[in-house]
Amino acid sequence: MARAAEGRKVGLIGYPVGHSLSPLMQQAAFDHLHLACQYGLWETAAEELVARVLDLRWPDYLGANVTVPYKQQVIPLLDRLDEEAAEIGAVNVIVNHNGQLVGHNSDAAGFLRSLREDGGCNPAGKHVWLLGAGGAAHSVAHTLVGAGVASLTILNRTLAHAESLADALRARLPTVRAVALAAIGELEAEPYDLLVNATAVGLSPAEPEASPVPANLLRPHTLVVDLLYKPTRLLREAKACGARTLDGLPMLVYQGARSFELWTGQSAPLAVMFAALREAH
Ligand code: NAP
Repeated sequence: MARAAEGRKVGLIGYPVGHSLSPLMQQAAFDHLHLACQYGLWETAAEELVARVLDLRWPDYLGANVTVPYKQQVIPLLDRLDEEAAEIGAVNVIVNHNGQLVGHNSDAAGFLRSLREDGGCNPAGKHVWLLGAGGAAHSVAHTLVGAGVASLTILNRTLAHAESLADALRARLPTVRAVALAAIGELEAEPYDLLVNATAVGLSPAEPEASPVPANLLRPHTLVVDLLYKPTRLLREAKACGARTLDGLPMLVYQGARSFELWTGQSAPLAVMFAALREAH
């Protein structure tokens, strides 16, 4: 498999992609293992998506990563999905198997691994508040339900998006519910063990200091996770009130490591990938 990976191309399909740290960690991994592969940033406008994915069938492509806004839109362009990607309904890794394109989702496993290994949290039996109902929230919600959480409250700016995600999970977790993010204050008296921010709040350069959770709802002895991989106001305030915190960097590395393994068949050099990102931080 390693020899098959030599001299081939792989990259990130999305719009925009300029901010992505994936090339840094993937190129560091390829270089470390002396695989002559190139990881590119493939900014793709909507009208270019079909041609971009079609190109991945050529023998010189290993596959691709997929990010916003195409994690769902690429699905009809692929030959098949693995079980997890099919269940979640989102693809962030495409592998070219001799011209056949297979879609995978490594965000879900990446999140769960970061929660367990870096957050020290086994989600089984936990009461969870999940903020967001976009692509990342779908992966997080499915993996948390699979891991046996006791309850899941999905809070989102657009209530209909949270409701549709909750509806998709209810057969597996009857306690799942959807709440408008604007109504988060109404949950003040309710306990939770784990709070995950999977919204883009805090990402915008125009509002880097925004937090989706009022500080009075943060509690000691909980774990607060922000999928953003930078220090955020949410994590700062959570720490200040005595909560444990986890940012999105380990998830980013673990999903990238899984992508690398799917493309090359080789174990990903995790320490090298972490170091490449920490250096860039
Ligand atoms: P997405 O599919 O575009 O979803 C964005 C989510 O954020 C939606 O729930 C959206 O709510 C909400 N949102 C956007 N702007 C908001 C605002 N101003 N106020 C309140 N809610 C707002 O994006 P995604 O792929 O799920 O990514 C979400 C976040 O996770 C991003 O910050 C991304 O960087 C991060 N992420 C991290 C990793 C990692 O490996 N660490 C992996 C994937 C994603 P509506 O439904 O109302 O639009």
